[in-house]
Amino acid sequence: MSGPTSLGDGARGPAENPAADELGGHEHGTGGHLHGHPGGTGVREVADPVRIAPGIVQIDTLLGGWSRMTAGYLVEGTAPVLVETGSQSSVPVLLAALDQLGLGPRDLAGVAVTHIHLDHAGGVGDVARAFPDATVYVHEKGARHLADPSRLVSSAARVYGDLLDTLYGRLDPTPPERLHVLADTEEVRVGPDRVLTAVDSPGHAKHHLGLHDSVSGILFAGDAVGVRLPDAGVLRPATPPPDFDLDQALHSLDKFAARHPCGIALAHYGLLGDPQVLLAEAEETLRQWAEVATQAWHEGRDIAEALAARFSVDTSEVPAEHRDKLEILNGFHSNADGFRRWLETRNGAGTDPVSGAVDR
Ligand SMILES: [Zn+2]
Repeated sequence: MSGPTSLGDGARGPAENPAADELGGHEHGTGGHLHGHPGGTGVREVADPVRIAPGIVQIDTLLGGWSRMTAGYLVEGTAPVLVETGSQSSVPVLLAALDQLGLGPRDLAGVAVTHIHLDHAGGVGDVARAFPDATVYVHEKGARHLADPSRLVSSAARVYGDLLDTLYGRLDPTPPERLHVLADTEEVRVGPDRVLTAVDSPGHAKHHLGLHDSVSGILFAGDAVGVRLPDAGVLRPATPPPDFDLDQALHSLDKFAARHPCGIALAHYGLLGDPQVLLAEAEETLRQWAEVATQAWHEGRDIAEALAARFSVDTSEVPAEHRDKLEILNGFHSNADGFRRWLETRNGAGTDPVSGAVDR
């Protein structure tokens, strides 16, 4: 395939990501990455894993065949840990990538999910089965849903509709004895000189953790910083129902900043440098979105329309195909539903959540 996608290539160009140089990355371009989506007729590419920092390998888990939309990260060491599995539909791609990286069935020591939304954790049951020695690390508020996913899956079915089966897949249970609940600041040992530190970071979801790598300084931020697809360019907050909470989300951004990470790896998608600038942008963007949503809600206007009217201009230059990816992962309607639920809850309206909570 064309395009420098093999190991040793950076996730970003240096102009876009100054820290990529410090982290060993270099210019990567966009060639060869943009093929393959659910409606496409072209060859479905499998992106090679990309080493984005010493001992950190980014795996494109190709949600729905789309590239640069969902990432998993392998943290290498004597006890390697995979961060995020992607959705269940991504498992074949993920397993092929791990095989390509030389990991046999007994070689993976851990799988950590930043939170239990299906585009992050849907593959956990399958991956746990494929790697029988791997411990599954999860937030305490997510653990029981990995052991018994029935409520989570029925909640996801209400949110995703047909996309549950056509795009995401479901979630197989993980045997409870394989689960390890991570507390805030708890460390997962990856090697003699390497740990991942858990950062309790609710806001996007109450079961959200960041994971901070002691060697590279990279913070795996899940969805807590937002979504920034390389092909769409713009950072958007991710405020879905039923858990979204503005104050918690802002506090979590502060917690991330206080750890002084050297880079931030988003699940959607990739490594970004200049973390303090990125976190400030995430905070500012989140505040603006909350302001627009709150005002629309107080005035009885449609929140999704208000958000789209104000912020869709940010992506007006983006090709339609890439805007579709952003809409599926991080559409105005889902974000509006999250804001509405948050506004109703804090104002005591107490109406049912749009989606039904996965953990109440
Ligand atoms: Zn999420």
